[in-house]
Amino acid sequence: MPTMRYMPNVVTLELDGAKCNGCRMCESLCSAFHADPKYSSVNPARSRIRVFWCEEKDIYVPIKAGKHTGVECSGRTTTRIGGKEYGECSLCRRACPVRDLFHEPDSKLPIECDMCGEPMPEKPLCVKFCKSDALTYEEREEEVEEEMKPEDVEIGVESMVDKYGLQKVVDTVARMTKKE
Ligand code: SF4
Ligand code: SF4
Ligand code: SF4
Repeated sequence: MPTMRYMPNVVTLELDGAKCNGCRMCESLCSAFHADPKYSSVNPARSRIRVFWCEEKDIYVPIKAGKHTGVECSGRTTTRIGGKEYGECSLCRRACPVRDLFHEPDSKLPIECDMCGEPMPEKPLCVKFCKSDALTYEEREEEVEEEMKPEDVEIGVESMVDKYGLQKVVDTVARMTKKE
């Protein structure tokens, strides 16, 4: 049965396309940070944030790499900016098998924003060095659903048996099942 629990300090990154000037500092820093060894090279293809350019309006939209998906989706959306339509995958955040974006250039493994790894820096790198305030982040508590593991159930039942005896636990479960 799922139980609810609060995760303290969930960090979310907000992206504001209206403020982005397309300097691509975020891409450079993120890719350098994730190079091996760290800061040994700059390759935007390795960046967990990419800046999409809408040539029609000459605006830039930063996109942060989200969760990986193993299959292409059927519910693709078209985004209209100014008079121009950007089809399907243009602004999608997922590492998906139908495109190269958000895959490690060498291994082709999917990549995802890790908020700059462990230990998490005081401020994500891209936020710290974005001089246009196009990137901000906030820490907050978030309610998450957590699946109870079978071992957890066993431990709970064992402690009840220890405390009340097996027969009492069996009788109680039987009574509860009847009610349902
Ligand atoms: S650093 Fe900021 S302004 Fe520059 S491209 Fe990235 S989001 Fe845009
Ligand atoms: S890139 Fe995104 S929109 Fe395109 S198929 Fe994959 S999940 Fe769907
Ligand atoms: S928060 Fe860190 S890992 Fe995520 S996109 Fe920004 S620089 Fe890259």
